[in-house]
Amino acid sequence: MTVLVTGGAGYIGSHMVWELLDAGESVVVLDRLSTGFEWAVAPEAKLVVGDVADKELIGGIIRDNHVDAIIHFAGSVVVPESVADPLAYYENNTSKTRTLIETAVREGVPHFIFSSTAAVYGGAGLEPVREDARLAPESPYGLSKLMSEWMLRDASLAHDIRYTALRYFNVAGADPKGRTGQSTPGATHLIKVACETALGKRPFMQVFGTDYPTPDGTCMRDYIHVSDLAAAHRLALQRLRAGGRSLVANCGYSHGYSVLEVIESVRRAFGRDFEVKMGDRRPGDAAAVVANSDLARTELGWTPQRDDLDQIVADALAWERILTSKNSARG
Ligand code: UDP
Repeated sequence: MTVLVTGGAGYIGSHMVWELLDAGESVVVLDRLSTGFEWAVAPEAKLVVGDVADKELIGGIIRDNHVDAIIHFAGSVVVPESVADPLAYYENNTSKTRTLIETAVREGVPHFIFSSTAAVYGGAGLEPVREDARLAPESPYGLSKLMSEWMLRDASLAHDIRYTALRYFNVAGADPKGRTGQSTPGATHLIKVACETALGKRPFMQVFGTDYPTPDGTCMRDYIHVSDLAAAHRLALQRLRAGGRSLVANCGYSHGYSVLEVIESVRRAFGRDFEVKMGDRRPGDAAAVVANSDLARTELGWTPQRDDLDQIVADALAWERILTSKNSARG
């Protein structure tokens, strides 16, 4: 049995590949390498460069490798980009996922794990959000993922395929063993931006909004360590293989940190100060987005191992340093 990981050369996908290999699984990665990196794919995994909508290619991979599960990370993930170019997001995230599900059904792959997002909920309040909360994506990105969840639901009712969709909150950090991390240039995510600033890759960073209805006025998010997220997928795979029913579950720690708390944590990890400017709100940001993760804990038996902001930040910073030396070695 082999697991096919789409987008396995990307940030979360590359962690997933290590998680599976560490658990003794056989892994094939499919990646276009448009934003991912060949070097990010663990050498023990087989890498196929190609597109998830290439039915012939995927069919061949499934048959040749006896694939019994697909973990589907490939897709576009930049919210403002999805607002500027919605049709590209519906093509890349929704249409291509439809084709991939169709191929999975045709080839008889029984298990499908899908990377979804907290963006399906739209503006959440200060209370942790449950899976049955109102679904109101505020961006084409969120909607492109929600439509994929719905296609999986309907396909699983009609065909012999079961799925797990995991709705990620704010994924951050890096492999604690330093094997992979967030490597995409031009990052916009808070922890990565703060680490880059600490290391002098940016002259300063900005806090987007200080007048939110939160305890310190800055936005609150539920930051989850990427290794805990990969572990949740592995548990989801185990559960599906054991006959578990289809499931949609949040992946977060159920508590939030403010932007200022995150920056303080980066200062602690770095040991020195760096320049932070207070700026205006960024359009589209909700005041707080925090998961209720009871379902993942009970259904998947998920017990996070790295629920500690300082550890998330320390691992992100360590990876940022590794990335600096990788990039300078490449000239
Ligand atoms: N943020 C910030 N400065 C930055 C990047 C992000 O103040 O340079 C804030 C952003 O406004 C949001 C939080 O940090 O409130 C998390 O943003 P991120 O882009 O990491 O994730 P999102 O929650 O938007 O998916």
